[in-house]
Amino acid sequence: MEEKKTNSPMDDLVRAEKLQLLYHQSYPAIFTSLFNCVLLSVILWPVQQKEVLISWGIVLAGTALARVILFKSYNRAKPQGGDVLGWEKPYFVTLLLSSITWGIGAVYIMPISSQLHQVVIYYFLIGMSGGAISVYSANRSMTLISIACLLLPVTGWFLMQGSLLSVGVAIGAVIFFVSAIRAGKILSKTLNHSFMLTHELKDAKEAAEALALKDELSGLNNRRAFYDKGELLVDYYQRHGAVLSIIVMDLDHFKKINDKFGHAAGDATIRQIGHILQQVIRKSDLCARIGGEEFGILLTTSVNDGAAQLAEKLRQMIAGTPIVFNGEDFSVSASFGVAVGNADLATLLKRADAALYKAKDAGRNRVISDGCVAEEMQGCICKATVAPARLRAV
Ligand code: GH3
Ligand code: MG
Ligand code: MG
Repeated sequence: MEEKKTNSPMDDLVRAEKLQLLYHQSYPAIFTSLFNCVLLSVILWPVQQKEVLISWGIVLAGTALARVILFKSYNRAKPQGGDVLGWEKPYFVTLLLSSITWGIGAVYIMPISSQLHQVVIYYFLIGMSGGAISVYSANRSMTLISIACLLLPVTGWFLMQGSLLSVGVAIGAVIFFVSAIRAGKILSKTLNHSFMLTHELKDAKEAAEALALKDELSGLNNRRAFYDKGELLVDYYQRHGAVLSIIVMDLDHFKKINDKFGHAAGDATIRQIGHILQQVIRKSDLCARIGGEEFGILLTTSVNDGAAQLAEKLRQMIAGTPIVFNGEDFSVSASFGVAVGNADLATLLKRADAALYKAKDAGRNRVISDGCVAEEMQGCICKATVAPARLRAV
């Protein structure tokens, strides 16, 4: 039968795509078959009984109708992915019926009186077999079964006639059949490789794209992704007159952690911060590591001080979660700058950065919203900050 059967998802995907290709490319073959039937009947009209030709034509038209109905239903259903495989059996059964009607029908309409017309019928069958190789090669077993149904009955008939001409024709059919098996095998194998390669390339491209946007250490988006996705998000919000918030967060005295506990401990800290951010930040928001120990969060919150509240929550979580590394534990804190508005990404970032500098200047481990100056902070820092003592300490 067909190529080696395995159940890997890739094989199923390729099988489904080959079937999709068959449905797309073999619709015209139904009408070619009907046209050939009419043409052959006209040629045989003088040498064969009309009832024989008409009854064969009716059966063939029935199989063609079944195939048209099947193709129409398939196009209406538009199956995708694994669902396509459910349409394999009906395709195969209707193709088989049509091929058998041609193969056995050829023997049925064979005129005893005229060797010339017998060879004409054989000529039509060979032509249709050649067409089957090109149309059905996406599925090797279907190609072979359909060619076998077309050629074998008439080959047997020619062999039984015993004359030199008919045996010669039969041998010709066998040679053609063997060549068709080889051609079908090569075509099908090439097509299979091409489908596999397309999928592997698509997977590799998706993996490379995902990698290019991801920061390995924190598991968050990287700087590039933050700017690429951020620009799109800000554009969308600007166009709709909605407000966005940006939080810029920088770990405090991170250099000291590296110096005291080693670079690997610093890396473990960034990993843990990434973990905390992934837990807290909603999927609809954008969170990224935008520098060595600096993180950016773009929030779609519509609540005025929602970003400051979130920053305060993160500040508390980070300060309250000890980092355990190589038997040692230490704590880390972070400073936050928050900006809210309907400006472009660069402007929002600039304002959040300015607020972050103020938070650093004011003693670190705190949240400052855009527009506040250190001296004013008490009144301006976000009502959200649940550490007023810290603010007063500035
Ligand atoms: P501040 O509170 O002012 O932000 O002080 P800081 O020490 O955090 O800031 P500074 O800019 O002086 O130092 C940042 C340090 O972060 C220096 C750099 O070696 C370290 N760093 C940057 N990226 C990584 C990283 O991926 N892994 C580790 N372990 N350290 C990093
Ligand atoms: Mg720092
Ligand atoms: Mg920094």
